[in-house]
Amino acid sequence: MDIPKIDNLQIRKVTEDVLLLHQIKPPSVFSCCDGLLILPKEGRNQNAVVLDANIEPKLVNEVNFLYDPITDYVCTHGHMDHIAHVHAWEEIGATIHAPNTEAHYLLDLRNFYEGYGFNQSVKFSAIENFGKLNKFQKCKDVNTFEPGDMLKFDKFEVETIPFTGHSKSHVGFLLKEEKILHVSCLGFDQPKPEVDGFGPWYGFRECSISQYLKDIDMADMIYRNLEYLTSSHSYIAKNPDMSPFDYMRRKIKENQRKVDIGLMNIKSTPNFEEKVKKLLKLDIFFPKKKMRGFLQEIYTHWESWIITKHLQQSKILKY
Ligand SMILES: [Zn+2]
Repeated sequence: MDIPKIDNLQIRKVTEDVLLLHQIKPPSVFSCCDGLLILPKEGRNQNAVVLDANIEPKLVNEVNFLYDPITDYVCTHGHMDHIAHVHAWEEIGATIHAPNTEAHYLLDLRNFYEGYGFNQSVKFSAIENFGKLNKFQKCKDVNTFEPGDMLKFDKFEVETIPFTGHSKSHVGFLLKEEKILHVSCLGFDQPKPEVDGFGPWYGFRECSISQYLKDIDMADMIYRNLEYLTSSHSYIAKNPDMSPFDYMRRKIKENQRKVDIGLMNIKSTPNFEEKVKKLLKLDIFFPKKKMRGFLQEIYTHWESWIITKHLQQSKILKY
């Protein structure tokens, strides 16, 4: 099969009839994510199905021009890089499916704002600006499923796997027949094996590092019996390449070390909240001093949770 060419879209072959869609230049950092296009196949699915490919409307239209009709689209969770352009898939006629408890974030930015607890420290106008920056538009209607459900489109089966360290209903996809595990935002975000990304991301109250480690172990176990590992922001790994799992565990350890080093320097600071405040000033994870306005507000919110999660795990704090 020849891979079609679309400007600004990289289409990579995972198997003969499963393609990975990757927008090369997103309008902003949190605008897009890679996902899978399941081509129609005799005896499996009659129409094309898309799994979590949040790419801009222009590209959605071009993909649809090639593979129309695309009847179903499955979203993995409600973070901005997974919801901004889903409306475009709805507009070309796909039914949108998303996991329960985060599905309604696709319908209204206010749900996204309150659902992730931004309202604790960030103004709604900051989230409106963030939505504009990433070209967010809402969907009209979303079907919900429970994380862990098996979804079926004709005879194509996709098992949703809860990876809840990242968000409370975040799922990956197990395509058993196709021998593919798509871990979505578990933290495998390397564009190439030798290049690091940010790694596992836990910048909200609902995230959990200990759950993350369990999720990584579970994904590792599932992938051992499969052939391909894909994610929302990475290259396609092939068994026996297990390095993505080492990478994710290493990134969490490195983050812990960064917070612990910061902590040694502010040991005399009395309470937990003061410690978080002082560590935030060190710009350990994000260059917030260089940021202005709503982005500074949002990144500060995220980093305060990343730091909090590591303080809760820190051995240094116990002394
Ligand atoms: Zn995410």
